[in-house]
Amino acid sequence: MTVVHGVLATALALALTGFVVDIADTSATKAQAQIAADAAALAAVAESGPYGGGEHEREAARFAAANGARLLECRCEPGATAVQVKVVLDGVVAEARAVFDPEAVMPLDLAYAGEGLHPILERAVDDLVRAARGAVHVVSGRRSSERQSVLWADALARYGNAEVADDWVARPGTSMHEKGLAVDLGGDVELAADIVEQLGLPLHRPLENEPWHFELTP
Ligand SMILES: [Zn+2]
Repeated sequence: MTVVHGVLATALALALTGFVVDIADTSATKAQAQIAADAAALAAVAESGPYGGGEHEREAARFAAANGARLLECRCEPGATAVQVKVVLDGVVAEARAVFDPEAVMPLDLAYAGEGLHPILERAVDDLVRAARGAVHVVSGRRSSERQSVLWADALARYGNAEVADDWVARPGTSMHEKGLAVDLGGDVELAADIVEQLGLPLHRPLENEPWHFELTP
């Protein structure tokens, strides 16, 4: 619990809902089962977020066990920004869902207008946004080196450590955004990934910890 809350408090905006499925024998068992489910869901969704390792199910099982329960189910797609888990404790089943909003942790660049993007990327992004019918939007496109320097300095100030800042923002001169080969999307990024697949768009997500970051496929 402590580890999960530490990560989430600094980096994730969380919406958490939970509900107990079966009638509990005692309210104490019910409450403990719900705590285990909540902890498992938070641990799982954190795997898609900052410093996550993509081990959703393993972490969900670990946090369920640490709270006395057993993980029954983890609906946890790799890179997903929402997960749902089911645990059992003394015969009482509890479920929880945890969601985080990538826009709360990504570098914001509100000046996106499409200019400077590689023309194939620009066309693919236009197709994607149109197909998403308002559910997906572009948060950041091409950045100048000056802008990238500002973002990196902000990350350094926020995290106080160059190595951690590197996990979040590319150093000036190394970002695919500076080359016009990447965009950051907001809204439903899982829907965006589905549309990329359905339409066969030349886009991919190379960064496990940044599910919103799409690059032009070489
Ligand atoms: Zn990006």
